Amino acid sequence: MKVHEYQAKEVLRKYGVPTPRGIVSNTARKAREATELLGGSVVVKAQIHAGGRGKGGGVKLAGNADEAERQATTIIGMNLVTHQTGPQGRKVKRVLIEEQLPINREIYLGIVMDRAAGKPVFMASAQGGMDIEEIAEKNPEAILKETIGSGGMRAFQARRLAFGLGITGEAFGPSVQAMLALSRTYEESDASLIEINPFVLTDDGRAVALDAKMDIDDNSLFRHPDLAALRDPDEEEPLETEAINQGLNYIKLDGNVGCMVNGAGLAMATMDIIQYAGGMPANFLDVGGGANKDQIKHGFRIILSDSNVKAILINIFGGILKVDVLAEGIVAAAQELDIDVPMVLRLEGTNVDRGREILESSGLDFAVAADMKAAAEQAVARAVQHNEQ
Ligand code: GDP
Ligand code: MN
Repeated sequence: MKVHEYQAKEVLRKYGVPTPRGIVSNTARKAREATELLGGSVVVKAQIHAGGRGKGGGVKLAGNADEAERQATTIIGMNLVTHQTGPQGRKVKRVLIEEQLPINREIYLGIVMDRAAGKPVFMASAQGGMDIEEIAEKNPEAILKETIGSGGMRAFQARRLAFGLGITGEAFGPSVQAMLALSRTYEESDASLIEINPFVLTDDGRAVALDAKMDIDDNSLFRHPDLAALRDPDEEEPLETEAINQGLNYIKLDGNVGCMVNGAGLAMATMDIIQYAGGMPANFLDVGGGANKDQIKHGFRIILSDSNVKAILINIFGGILKVDVLAEGIVAAAQELDIDVPMVLRLEGTNVDRGREILESSGLDFAVAADMKAAAEQAVARAVQHNEQ
């Protein structure tokens, strides 16, 4: 789950990471009042779940309250397009008004999960403000790394990073403290990513998180009600939000073969085999090992809400989820929803014969494939046919 910059900064502050003073505003009027409260020059920053806002015109400096109000008028309601939003852009609903800082240096800091090591890795680069992907490609040795072991990042590791970044003088201590606090934030909030770009050193020796991007592991939200409350459904794919509410694991993709599968591994394999058969999956959907009739119905609803879907491949290996239960779910869904795309089924496992009976006697239009490969080939072929109709 992504959160907004202003929300990430609230979390960071709780753990002792210094951030600029700021006030979030959803109208230009409030932006003016915020500027007056903060006093002096401010930065007006669009709050959307995407980076690259500066280059896209979503981050503007303002010298006084008049200017801030004017900038906020332009930014609130604008459709902000950045290299991370895609060409359709994102509608800006709020701006963060922040005090301007006397920036001396911009540094990159980030923590992500290193899947090979199975541990988080703390990354730092002296080339702050730049895209880390670009640095990683052109100048990988410019990225310093420290693997975070159990018990969190050690003080010597933070000092080694600060040395490596060439931080000296009065900013050294605060930088080390901020890095350790950042690592604690990552661990204790079950984040999957934190990125501070830029982390700045000021002319007066402070070390401050000027920008903040934070993703929280969805699977941990049950134990962080305060973080779960930061969810902004307006920023999310509506179908994915509905799936979350139904306890389904759904990711929208760009292809035209809808997938209804039980088990994440089988769902991944199904997407692969659809591509192998020359097609493109429209989604990842894991209805789970213990899905009930209702969830199957919701799964269908979600798949069918995507107008790109031209065929549905149902690939079920009945274990805990028995095939006959699934079959009942499919029939119930088909009776309620107006399913006008061809369906191809591959069923295996517990109660498969009873499941087939239920489907065959339902009068629904579907094809039962012999195995996974055949199912994928049929689904891809039917999607092409249906698209041409
Ligand atoms: P992003 O473009 O979405 O990553 O947004 P950032 O928060 O990183 O802002 C983009 C750029 O605006 C930063 O890299 C800074 O150069 C600049 N910026 C942001 N806040 C301030 C500030 O307080 N003072 C100054 N001088 N520049 C700022
Ligand atoms: Mn940034």
